[in-house]
Amino acid sequence: MRSKLPDVGTTIFTRMSALAKECDAMNLSQGYPDFEAPQALREALAKAVMDGHNQYAPMAGLPALRDQLAEQLKIHRGVDCNPDTEITVVPGATEGIFCAIMASVGHGDEVIVLDPCYDSYEPAIKLAGAAAVHVALEAHSFRVDWNAVAGAITPRTRMIVVNSPHNPTGATFSHDDLISLQQLVQQHDLLVCSDEVYEHLVYDGRQHHSVLQYPQLRERSFAHFSFGKTFSVTGWKTGYCVAPPALTAELRKVHQFVAFVAVTPVQQAVADFLATDPQYPATLANFYQQKRDLFCHALSSSRFRVSASGGTYFQLLDYSELSDLPDHQLCEDWTRKLGIASIPISVFYDSPPQQHYLRFCFAKSDTMLAKAAEVLCKI
Ligand code: PMP
Ligand code: GLN
Repeated sequence: MRSKLPDVGTTIFTRMSALAKECDAMNLSQGYPDFEAPQALREALAKAVMDGHNQYAPMAGLPALRDQLAEQLKIHRGVDCNPDTEITVVPGATEGIFCAIMASVGHGDEVIVLDPCYDSYEPAIKLAGAAAVHVALEAHSFRVDWNAVAGAITPRTRMIVVNSPHNPTGATFSHDDLISLQQLVQQHDLLVCSDEVYEHLVYDGRQHHSVLQYPQLRERSFAHFSFGKTFSVTGWKTGYCVAPPALTAELRKVHQFVAFVAVTPVQQAVADFLATDPQYPATLANFYQQKRDLFCHALSSSRFRVSASGGTYFQLLDYSELSDLPDHQLCEDWTRKLGIASIPISVFYDSPPQQHYLRFCFAKSDTMLAKAAEVLCKI
């Protein structure tokens, strides 16, 4: 059979988690918490199952959940969304992003992605028949060079995929970034696929800037969110996509034939949890900032160059003073020899630049973070 994705193998997250297991290493590679979600949320799921919320939900998501999500967008972002026409519950942001891309682009179209970029974007673009055009973020700061983005736009460009807070670098968009994006997409009549799954994980007093807060951006954007990140339940694979009614209608046409619906009891549980604790997501920034600080402070006597992550639960460490090895090789070596697994970031580039970074996930117990830092300090 002719492969539709000849260059795609098993993702780095799957490979590194498997290697960590094989080597019994501390797994700071794949991004997931090693601690439990709030007890009330887990109880709400058990209750939803026992109460009989076990058959198909409506295709766009349980109305009770969409109402809560509209409330969340009002509370945390100050925006009004129509739960019926603008919010779609999806089985994970990965599916929402896939459907948004599938619904929007096709043969001959180009989609701009910013490298290093999350690994699910390009396969979706290719399967839609379009081509990904890669623009690298600036070295070290990982900021967007909007002039470079403008230079990559051609008459074929249909969409740009953006991600803030950014996986794997931890960079976050400023208000000025959103304004630059807005100007470009208006000028060139582009759609935006905005991956905001780490929206609540921003540090040092930063605010998350959502495309939904900029009316002229919002009218051409799909914004994606994930309960996996917000509620520490990556295995529940549920999230939602917010887009204007016309874009939502197109997204749903694809979603109804990719997954049809998201898992019903999970939707009921999140709806019940948010109804009683709508401010819970606002507690995350402080919680994760303490973990980031613990990890970074514990590394202060190491030979890594550490620039504290601005958002997400990932910390990049620059190992230039420790090794010249390529990141994927060092990552494997340290998993096998030191018992500590991370993620190389070169794999998220079309043409990786000369740099020496590994990504460490700090959504881990304080004990594991301290232990990992101790090992890293000895190198
Ligand atoms: N985008 C980014 C940047 C992510 O890190 C993740 C987490 N895996 C996703 C999308 C997908 O989220 P989900 O697990 O809800 O599909
Ligand atoms: N988003 C997670 C990470 O960046 C991994 C998700 C996955 O394994 N696909 O580590």
